[in-house]
Amino acid sequence: MNRTDILHYLSGAKDEELFAAAHAEKLRVFGKDVYLRGIIEFSNHCKNQCLYCGLRAPNKEAGRYRLSIENIITLASGLPELGFGTVVLQSGDDYHYSTDDIANIVSTIKSSTNLAITLSLGDRGLDEFRAWREAGADRYLLKLETTNTKLYEKCRPNESLKDRFQRIEALQQLGYEVGSGIITGLPDMTNETLADDILKLTELRLDMLAAGPFIPHPQTPFKDMDNGTTQDAFRVSALLRLLNPEANIPATSALDALEQDGRKKGLQRGCNVIMPSFTPEEVRANYKIYPGKNTFSAGAVENARLVQEMIRNMGFIPYAGQGPSKRKNRSKG
Ligand code: SAH
Repeated sequence: MNRTDILHYLSGAKDEELFAAAHAEKLRVFGKDVYLRGIIEFSNHCKNQCLYCGLRAPNKEAGRYRLSIENIITLASGLPELGFGTVVLQSGDDYHYSTDDIANIVSTIKSSTNLAITLSLGDRGLDEFRAWREAGADRYLLKLETTNTKLYEKCRPNESLKDRFQRIEALQQLGYEVGSGIITGLPDMTNETLADDILKLTELRLDMLAAGPFIPHPQTPFKDMDNGTTQDAFRVSALLRLLNPEANIPATSALDALEQDGRKKGLQRGCNVIMPSFTPEEVRANYKIYPGKNTFSAGAVENARLVQEMIRNMGFIPYAGQGPSKRKNRSKG
């Protein structure tokens, strides 16, 4: 598929064909399995100022919280008996947790469970990535958000796209399964931008790929911008599936924030992963990267059960294993 084909699909001219092909490809590679990841959003403190994100440092209304190391370990340890084989530890870019703190969390979870561990802590140092890998971390998720230099550097003040690429390459060299992805519908993004993003992400031979729609947050500089559409995010996810058949692709929670059954549709259009939140009820609504995030009313355990039930009702199987990368031609960085 070349750039012209991608642009044609992005125009919406062949949605049915695109979604059906993506789903067929998902079924061919993963069968009926849907991979589950339990995500613990352990801190919403952030040193960065990303223009799209509600956790940005200047947002004084964010209601900041941090979970203790013990609490994070206890929450993760409860996941296997709920049918989860992977824990994702995510936070703002929060240096309160030292290299050793994170290594300690990782090695304790690895020594007491069979969980695969994905870290998503933002732009930390290469020595830290190495230490956490040695402690047993399996995967790292670092989204490019966009591969357009001008847009990236507008959205993420004081950060460079080149550095982000270098981090991704370094993580691959360290032997992590590496995930990345984009936000669709960021201000000034066009279908041309998205086509370039899709091609660039594909070139990186990533183990995980994600596309979620932009949702404006009222306490950010992008508050008056238009939101992205779920349709764009579905198209990008489906195209990523066709170009990266063996990659893990989540139905992102932002889909549900914009459209009822958004994630469910994602799972019928090429996505094979879903990531319910296990962040404690008292704080999870404060992990507000965008409005509508973590607004489900059930407790975390009940919510996870509902997600598993939804998967079964769709005729799929909530897969309890680690759900590692199936990619054979993985990049070694
Ligand atoms: N601090 C970490 C984790 C980021 S939060 C990091 O920067 O890597 C997880 C993801 O939420 C981000 O990577 C981004 O893709 C998404 N996100 C943030 N703000 C958003 C918004 N307003 N709308 C949609 N997605 C958003």
